[in-house]
Amino acid sequence: MDITLRDIRKTFGHTDVLRGINLTFRSGTVTVLLGPSGSGKTTLLNIVAGLVPATGGHVLFGGQDVTALPVEARHIGYVFQSHALFPHLTAAGNVEFPLRVRGVGRGERRQRARDALAIVEMAHLAERDVSTLSGGQRQRVAIARALVANPDVLLLDEPLSALDPQLRDRIREELRALLEPLPVPVVLVTHDQHDAFVLADQVVLLHGGEVAQLGTPQDLYLRPANETVARFLGIAS
Ligand code: ADP
Repeated sequence: MDITLRDIRKTFGHTDVLRGINLTFRSGTVTVLLGPSGSGKTTLLNIVAGLVPATGGHVLFGGQDVTALPVEARHIGYVFQSHALFPHLTAAGNVEFPLRVRGVGRGERRQRARDALAIVEMAHLAERDVSTLSGGQRQRVAIARALVANPDVLLLDEPLSALDPQLRDRIREELRALLEPLPVPVVLVTHDQHDAFVLADQVVLLHGGEVAQLGTPQDLYLRPANETVARFLGIAS
């Protein structure tokens, strides 16, 4: 199912943070929302999730207009910056958690948690306490937890920022391999162009509340749409 944003606007007080965003996030495609701090990336992600209401415009999941629906009524998988895992639970316990909240029975929960952990190649560590796992392994658990309830879209907010710089390079590549085959739209927020260029099928560069450029990583680097894009990417023109 594709996700469509039509003329999304967001105002906080007197500040126009988003000034009419039109985008499509396609199944099987990784879209990276890139831009400087304060450019509205997280706000846009949270509008897709239903965590923040838009001031104007529409959010469509497939043919359904979900603009008025809160997060509980949308099928979202969300990976938070800190991963926000429960340290006292096992990997499987963390992954099962969203199903427990939904009242899914124990047997089915276990099976679905195993399946989700298998997608991220963590089935063999299902019974480990997450406090004993590495940063990369925890990230995989967080992704499994986001996928366990079969979401319509997977959203990731700065998923690499909690990692130390040495790990970051390796895990960026691993994350690419994990996200690439997923059968849902994936939308990932980062301020780091390196993340964007490794992870993205399409990059959305946000600036001044608008889409400054939309394209493949190569499009942005080889054909920056304007001076603002070139400057953000550090390309001399
Ligand atoms: P980014 O993720 O690109 O760093 P954000 O979406 O977090 O940007 O924020 C965009 C702008 O909106 C910033 O100026 C921020 O201060 C403002 N903002 C975000 N959330 C709120 C809020 N709840 N109330 C007021 N201003 C907000």
